[in-house]
Amino acid sequence: MLLHLLAHTIKKTAASATGSRLKAVVCEKCQTQYWYLLSRLGTGQTSSFLFVGNGAFLRAQKAAERDVAKRLDREVELVPCPRCHWVNQKLVSLAGRRKYRGAVVLAIVLLALGGIAYPLVANVAEGNSRTRSNEPTILAGKVSAGFVVAAVAVLLIRSLLRRRMNPNRHFPQPPTIPPGTPSAMVPANDSGTPSHLALVNVHYDCGIDENRWAILRSGQFVFPNVCCLCMNETTSVYSARLRMNEQRELPVPFCKQCKRTFRPIWWFAALLIVVGSAALGGAAAIAIPGIDETGRWIVAAIVMFFGSIIGLYTIPNRVCRPYRFSTIDQDRGVIRFAFKNEEFTRLLNDQARESEALLASRTVP
Ligand SMILES: [Zn+2]
Ligand SMILES: [Zn+2]
Repeated sequence: MLLHLLAHTIKKTAASATGSRLKAVVCEKCQTQYWYLLSRLGTGQTSSFLFVGNGAFLRAQKAAERDVAKRLDREVELVPCPRCHWVNQKLVSLAGRRKYRGAVVLAIVLLALGGIAYPLVANVAEGNSRTRSNEPTILAGKVSAGFVVAAVAVLLIRSLLRRRMNPNRHFPQPPTIPPGTPSAMVPANDSGTPSHLALVNVHYDCGIDENRWAILRSGQFVFPNVCCLCMNETTSVYSARLRMNEQRELPVPFCKQCKRTFRPIWWFAALLIVVGSAALGGAAAIAIPGIDETGRWIVAAIVMFFGSIIGLYTIPNRVCRPYRFSTIDQDRGVIRFAFKNEEFTRLLNDQARESEALLASRTVP
């Protein structure tokens, strides 16, 4: 009880911060020097007692800023050399370290389980066997060995997966790079001495169709003030009815006119779901053998109720939502969007590139 009370007086405060930093690279193959912009999201969390001070948010914010600074110091992006397409091996190994980090934990857990399993299996097997023999210890040994083999396999698979990520596999062919990799920048030489950086116009495949998807990094989620469906100017945003959680919703610009167009479609989809659930409930009630009339009604009602609830929360929003999005790389904060209107998708891609170019043009090498 006391512990319970204590737990409720502790308040968790979370904050996040985005940051970016210009990173310099010298190609290991051809010594070309180039730059790229690294962007990262940092998070901070603090625990504090309720009613004690008000600095929790500030402290969380400070922690988030420290986190983003640390990430900008340590992390890299796999940006190929703009002249020869080589991706520095140092970058590859640094980036690889952030992948499959859970594998070590999994291997340790498997080893620990192997250690616990040995006495446990030996004990149980000894209790079950009537004759005195060394069978129980052999069995326990086999079970423990199984866990050890599994732990080794996990680490082997990790190193294989990391090796597969190597973008230089087909060098000197241009590499396939991770989605959301920033462009290389080189000094612009229009008046003899370089005065600023400029984006290099080389396009690399990232395994995602960039005509259908806009790929954005953390710090790039700035939507233009035009409706994502009809491209007319607007200040209102899309918001769904019956939301599952806030995180699946983004303030995507959506005009009032388009909202009005979608409303009847939403209700029509909702109606279809309720009718469909009722039909499903009826079918379920008839299909179950050996229950009386009351039982059938109960089955029909339960199926219809839960079918409608689940359906209403998922399907009409999916039908009406003017966009789709998914997280491509949580760690690097890369998200992709596909809008019903492909022109808007293209606009987002162009905007992200323009902001990168603008930043380059303001930076002196
Ligand atoms: Zn090079
Ligand atoms: Zn519109």
